[in-house]
Amino acid sequence: MKVAVIGANHAGTAAINTILDNYPGTEVHVFDQNSNISFLGCGMALWIGHQISGPQGLFYSSAEKLGEKGAKIHLKTRVTKVDYANKTIHAEGEDGTVYEEAYDKLILATGSAPIFPKIPGMDLENVQAVKLYQHAEEVVKKLENPEIKHVTVVGAGYIGVELAEAFVRNGRATRLIDCADTCLSGYYDADFCNKMAENLSEHGVELCFGRQVTAVEGEQGKVSRVVTSNGTFDTDMVVFAIGFKPNTELCADHLELMRGAYLVDRTQKTSDPDIYAVGDCATVFNNAKGKEDYIALATNAVRSGVLAAHNVCGTHLESPGVQGSNGISIWGLNLLSTGLTEQKAKAEGMDVLTTEFTDWQKAGFIESGNTKTTVRIVYDAKTRVIVGAQLMSDYDVSMGLHMFSLAIQEKLTIDKLKLLDLFFLPHFNQPYNYITMAALSAK
Ligand SMILES: Cc1cc2nc3c(=O)[nH]c(=O)nc-3n(C[C@H](O)[C@H](O)[C@H](O)COP(=O)(O)OP(=O)(O)OC[C@H]3O[C@@H](n4cnc5c(N)ncnc54)[C@H](O)[C@@H]3O)c2cc1C
Repeated sequence: MKVAVIGANHAGTAAINTILDNYPGTEVHVFDQNSNISFLGCGMALWIGHQISGPQGLFYSSAEKLGEKGAKIHLKTRVTKVDYANKTIHAEGEDGTVYEEAYDKLILATGSAPIFPKIPGMDLENVQAVKLYQHAEEVVKKLENPEIKHVTVVGAGYIGVELAEAFVRNGRATRLIDCADTCLSGYYDADFCNKMAENLSEHGVELCFGRQVTAVEGEQGKVSRVVTSNGTFDTDMVVFAIGFKPNTELCADHLELMRGAYLVDRTQKTSDPDIYAVGDCATVFNNAKGKEDYIALATNAVRSGVLAAHNVCGTHLESPGVQGSNGISIWGLNLLSTGLTEQKAKAEGMDVLTTEFTDWQKAGFIESGNTKTTVRIVYDAKTRVIVGAQLMSDYDVSMGLHMFSLAIQEKLTIDKLKLLDLFFLPHFNQPYNYITMAALSAK
């Protein structure tokens, strides 16, 4: 069998490895327009902020590694057209080489592209997108110039917040702009968001919330101001981190879409039975909402790549759906969330209640390294099924989030958590665990 894979970043690489590791004899042809594969964008802020020494560790695969396993890799090669009737893809290399490759099954792993608003001044020097390794490299290189004293980050989602921390750590005066009235509002309810906003502010980030960026302006081709719905601000670099849109132009004329992404079933199959879509270009089934959704995360990309590979090669495997679990760690403040916030659930028309509890993480007699942790659980008012959870602590409570993710996937009620056997060891937690306490105090 011959499988063609378009896009070889996280989703594509997961699919390629799964096929080559499990289904010997399968021919795998890979096309990616970029010159590198498997770049971990999550390391971009750590690199810019000097928390890691360089980008070497930010790649876990390569054309050579996949090639050694037997894949036919074509980097710097853009797929320009898919001929669905003849099951053939057409591609063009940067050097002008033209390819025509037939396929039995096609896996689309074309990912997402950063949203760049259509406002004046976006072509000025030092207006920056952040997605690819090349973008990170550009930013790091530009920051070698001491004339770049001030950076403005537009978009206070998790990437914008991470970058704001990174630019401060890099020694730049930093401003964070968002049209919402706080940061991270897509992931957390207001009190959690405000705690992060306070944290950013305490570390020197200038917060400009409730403002829409309407233009960037500059002199001699370089950016020097950012114009917003409420004020114009001087700056030397503007970084846009306002979100991503699925890269689906290639097959949008042929395949069914939802919110711009290829609509897939639980096996990653699109509306064409010979075409599968994975990662940021595809939909996911959101268990908290009980319907298809678009959530661009590397974790979803990797899982969907594995799923598609097995299904393409004849092993039926269905996705259990996702919860959009995510986390962020900024100057030691850790926020984690899964499923829906109270605000999002209400926006979905759901009737939800919340329960929250804050306590010391470890037993009271632990004399050092103890810190407060808050848990907030969102559940359906009638069925009592858990639809979301948020955690906030200076302590690493990230493993706790996995339990909530599973609870949402398995449609557990808040009542099932009340007397759940949660272990206790003073080094880690308390006999009256805050999760137990939050569940017990649920209305
Ligand atoms: C700064 C940053 C930080 C992030 N941090 C996290 C994090 O901490 N945790 C997390 O889970 N996620 C994180 N993400 C999100 C994560 O990086 C994406 O969800 C992930 O990259 C999606 O992988 P993908 O393979 O589906 O798509 P992409 O990474 O977008 O890759 C798509 C590939 O397809 C290729 N391609 C597209 N069109 C064509 C074509 N026509 N022909 C040939 N090739 C084509 C592209 O060159 C690209 O290599 C972060 C993203 C960024 C930008």
